[in-house]
Amino acid sequence: MSRVYNFSAGPSVLPESVLKQAASEMLDYNGSGQSVMEMSHRSKVYEEIINQCEASLREVMNIPDNYKVLFLQGGASSQFAMIPLNLMNKNKKADFVITGQWAKKAYQEAQKFGACNVVASSADKTFSYIPQLDESKFDKDADYFHICMNNTIYGTRFTKLPNTGNVPLVADVSSCVLSEPIDVSKFGILYAGAQKNMGPAGLTVVIIREDLIGNAQEITPTMFNYQTHSDNGSMYNTPPTYAIYICKLVLDWIKDLGGLEKMKEINEKKANLLYDFLDNSKMFKGTVVKEDRSLMNIPFITGNEELDKKFVKEATAKGFVNLKGHRSVGGMRASIYNAMPVEGVQALVDFMKEFEANN
Ligand SMILES: *Cc1c(COP(=O)(O)O)cnc(C)c1O
Repeated sequence: MSRVYNFSAGPSVLPESVLKQAASEMLDYNGSGQSVMEMSHRSKVYEEIINQCEASLREVMNIPDNYKVLFLQGGASSQFAMIPLNLMNKNKKADFVITGQWAKKAYQEAQKFGACNVVASSADKTFSYIPQLDESKFDKDADYFHICMNNTIYGTRFTKLPNTGNVPLVADVSSCVLSEPIDVSKFGILYAGAQKNMGPAGLTVVIIREDLIGNAQEITPTMFNYQTHSDNGSMYNTPPTYAIYICKLVLDWIKDLGGLEKMKEINEKKANLLYDFLDNSKMFKGTVVKEDRSLMNIPFITGNEELDKKFVKEATAKGFVNLKGHRSVGGMRASIYNAMPVEGVQALVDFMKEFEANN
């Protein structure tokens, strides 16, 4: 068996040790005689898995006690509606920073439920930077303030949080959650589709301050009300049981590694390997301003579409897969999530050097 280096933006690479453990437990989880996939979500043995997953997430992210952790479905995209339904309950207004397609989708969906104000946008330069925020443009009466913390498609990230005062800060952290420490207490809600850094697709994790639960708009469907899931320990209906189990294994892997401080150190090492090469290459260049560069998603181009195509084709043949860039940026994108080993990035850089020398 040979595994490739997978630079997919999501669903993405998982730690090999996690996959091996899941494989070894596939037919018989911990002496239960069943696969985790086959268990009742209300059984004792499963209850332990979901409880351990939550406990590990709380430990790894240092989540304060006044926050709930919800294991939901529907992807980060469902949160684009769930957030306004639950939070637009006082003035029916919210603020948005448009830093890419996901941020824009969150904004467009929220418009169905209330008045949405764009505080700033980086659309003018294909979202290649994080705009400076003018606090005088923040609406003091907004029910929430939304950002997309790491912009998966464009490869930018917020390194400094907006000061929103009493207005709850809500962040889409789908593509950066667990990549480095984050001060959860600065946020009203953090949410993520699991398929980038947490586990397989099908699980959506929401971390929400307790006081933001329980005031949903009248029209809110039961399944879209945070209270439903909070009151029932994410067991109102069948949760994505297997995805939660894999997420638990991923969290164990992060704990064994030394937690998020260590994770950050490794992620910076990987990103620097690639950025240093891009900064010194005559053929390849990054598409994002230096100060806003993502640790997780690194887009780059040669400036020549034919050469880009040739690169992706030759890279794929050598076992570096899913490097084709998003159609809105073109070129290439290397997503180097937590589970991508340093050796994978080093091997990619070595291949890029070779390609540059040959072309
Ligand atoms: C992938 C991604 C999404 C979409 O997630 P789904 O789970 O597919 O709905 C939203 N926001 C960001 C930042 C993403 O990276």
